[in-house]
Amino acid sequence: MSMNNSVTRFILHNLLPPNPQSFNVHFASSTPRRRFQTLAFSHVIDEKMVVVGGGAAGIYGAIRAKTLAPDLNVVVIEKGKPLAKVKVSGGGRCNVTNGHCADNLILADKYPRGSKEFRGSFFNVHGPNDTMSWFSEHGVKLKTEEDGRVFPVSDNSSTIVDCLLNEARRRGVILQTGKSVTTASNTADGKFMLKIEKRTIDYVEFVEADYLLIASGSSQQGYNLADQLGHSIIKPVPSLFTFKIDDKPLTELSGITFPKVKASLKLESLQKNIPELTQVGPMLVTHWGLSGPVVLRLSAWGARDLFSSDYKGTLLVDFLLDVHSEALKSLLSQHKKKFPKQKVVGSYPPELGLVKRFWKYLLNREGIDEDILWASISNNSLMSIATLLKQCSFIVKGKGQFKDEFVTAGGVPLSEISLKTMESRIKSRLYFAGEVLNVDGITGGFNFQNAWSGGYIAGTSIGKMAASSAPSSLKKQTI
Ligand SMILES: Cc1cc2nc3c(=O)[nH]c(=O)nc-3n(C[C@H](O)[C@H](O)[C@H](O)COP(=O)(O)OP(=O)(O)OC[C@H]3O[C@@H](n4cnc5c(N)ncnc54)[C@H](O)[C@@H]3O)c2cc1C
Repeated sequence: MSMNNSVTRFILHNLLPPNPQSFNVHFASSTPRRRFQTLAFSHVIDEKMVVVGGGAAGIYGAIRAKTLAPDLNVVVIEKGKPLAKVKVSGGGRCNVTNGHCADNLILADKYPRGSKEFRGSFFNVHGPNDTMSWFSEHGVKLKTEEDGRVFPVSDNSSTIVDCLLNEARRRGVILQTGKSVTTASNTADGKFMLKIEKRTIDYVEFVEADYLLIASGSSQQGYNLADQLGHSIIKPVPSLFTFKIDDKPLTELSGITFPKVKASLKLESLQKNIPELTQVGPMLVTHWGLSGPVVLRLSAWGARDLFSSDYKGTLLVDFLLDVHSEALKSLLSQHKKKFPKQKVVGSYPPELGLVKRFWKYLLNREGIDEDILWASISNNSLMSIATLLKQCSFIVKGKGQFKDEFVTAGGVPLSEISLKTMESRIKSRLYFAGEVLNVDGITGGFNFQNAWSGGYIAGTSIGKMAASSAPSSLKKQTI
């Protein structure tokens, strides 16, 4: 068989487990165009776990499995750079988890897809507190901000990346980067045969695995693997985005924030106000439309409906949630009586808590000359300003960008896996964790928490099974 020496060395160095003499390595014949190798590890104690994807869920799961079963060969195949999303997350600070959700029911409610299923044991096994303890025990100091978001004290996502990669290395997890798992099938004896390719060179390997953890995030390749192994895929659509609004005077107010608004979204094609599509919270004006927690939450809860209506609809905003309409009208009338000689543009009830630029926007939207005096403003105009503050409509024209976070709704249905083990209900020894599943959370660290919890549970299940299949003389004390 003709084998390029450097390729052989590469395979032996990267794929073979630490104790090569106990493995049977078979190299299949090569074709004229491509080289093929089949690596088969057949001894019972030499079981192999392959993790597809070196993201948060994959690396965390690999570490956990290797911690419980040090003799298990754990190989992570990553097509790009490991933990790339962790690196860019949270604006480079990495919002690791959320510290304000001690109650699992409150926590489950942060997941537009997953809220029902996560009411069970999922977060009991490894919830936000466990994640925080894990990182603290591994030398990462964390802090919880006022809104519950947890970051490393360093405010640098590299702290999290380095911690995970160092721990993976220390435990003996083998990480192979620049390679994609492109197909997966079952062997006659219930194992997995994986085809692994490199994009940069003409190179193919076939690797056999006893346990397969698919933690491929929102990659289409990962969905294909799940499909090849018998799973269905719920169509992936974007979640966590901002709203594009074609209103130049509004977008000129970019940077203005409203601490508490109530926003309801009515979608064009659906012609109905779905109860979930109303949210309360802070809102922010951007140079392309509206953003902030309230908009991101609407985008998450409405991800599927928004997709179906081509991201077109009407957003109704109540800017003064705590002020009743009648009280608002009376505040404006009293102001008129008190300050008849003042220009409307320069004077308005301070109780409204509005910035001057936004007040001016409201006057312009109602076609009120900003230079008139309060004495000249009609009662009808006052009523329409009050109505605008309580029910201001914005036409949503599309989906904007959100640079801090972005996730995908859809993937492998939760009904097809057991959340107690993360094992597939369709194929035994096949596991899923992270965003590849039909799970997504709102912003605030919930998406990583799903990855940590799922990775941990899958790693625990595999680690325990592998440890129990090792002959007792070889079982080691595990943590
Ligand atoms: C810009 C940005 C910022 C974010 N910030 C936050 C935040 O602060 N807090 C938070 O909770 N969430 C955040 N998120 C969401 C969070 O990053 C994801 O929910 C999380 O990374 C999901 O983890 P995962 O391991 O499931 O998938 P990923 O992190 O996407 O990892 C999957 C990995 O699998 C690899 N892969 C895929 N297919 C294959 C294949 N066939 N072969 C080999 N490798 C493959 C991919 O290259 C990737 O590295 C952010 C997302 C973005 C885009």
